[in-house]
Amino acid sequence: MSISDTTRLLAQIQKTALDAIFPPGCVNCAEPIDTPGNLCAQCWPEMTYISAPFCEMCGFPFEYDAGDGLICAACLKRPPVFSRARAVLKYDESSRNMILGYKHSDQTNRAPTFANWMHRAGVDLIGDCDFICPVPLHHRRLIKRRFNQSALLAKEVARLARKPAVHDLVIRTRPTRTQGGLSAKARHRNVQGVFKVNPAREALLEGARILLIDDVLTTGATVNACSKSLLKGGALKVDVLTFSRVVRATNTAI
Ligand SMILES: [Zn+2]
Ligand SMILES: [Zn+2]
Repeated sequence: MSISDTTRLLAQIQKTALDAIFPPGCVNCAEPIDTPGNLCAQCWPEMTYISAPFCEMCGFPFEYDAGDGLICAACLKRPPVFSRARAVLKYDESSRNMILGYKHSDQTNRAPTFANWMHRAGVDLIGDCDFICPVPLHHRRLIKRRFNQSALLAKEVARLARKPAVHDLVIRTRPTRTQGGLSAKARHRNVQGVFKVNPAREALLEGARILLIDDVLTTGATVNACSKSLLKGGALKVDVLTFSRVVRATNTAI
């Protein structure tokens, strides 16, 4: 076999391996693309990627750079329970279908792509953590949906980061109604006291720095409630990494 044949064969093997991990088409519209695990040239510019400058705490993006360590108005008024939150992109008209397709339509082959982007967006948080854990689903919802979309992301981020993922660090003590369509106050009430540390994992948690993974950050009520239970259980700090986040105009920089 000539060198060019070998190179072609290796390229084919690599492509087959990538096709097995990533969806072959654009992760949003499924149009054919050259590099699997990506967006096509039409979808890429449609998304709003979150990058600095942003709120040091919740990761809310600011329109202009007014210096390091800025905190948004919402965090100043009511600091989150977690230390920092970061996200890959804005949850909006352009990204909604891609995210909902992943969450509700069994398009779980999007997880490696999303996790790849999360790994980049959360590099500082990942470097600082001891364990990666997902926001849990209640077992009844898990049976219905058949997978926990946050656990899949946590598993992939942990694999890329070479950090341990502990999927059952936190458990849901009761089912909650979905947070969609609820006001910020109702969301907060809905998840109050819902999470608790898995008694079988208590020993792991003492003094540990945790990176909590979820698909979307909306008001922060869920990750706040989850962080509260982790800190109560002995964690030193909790950071949050999500694929997407809602960006509301009310967070303006202070
Ligand atoms: Zn596309
Ligand atoms: Zn903030």
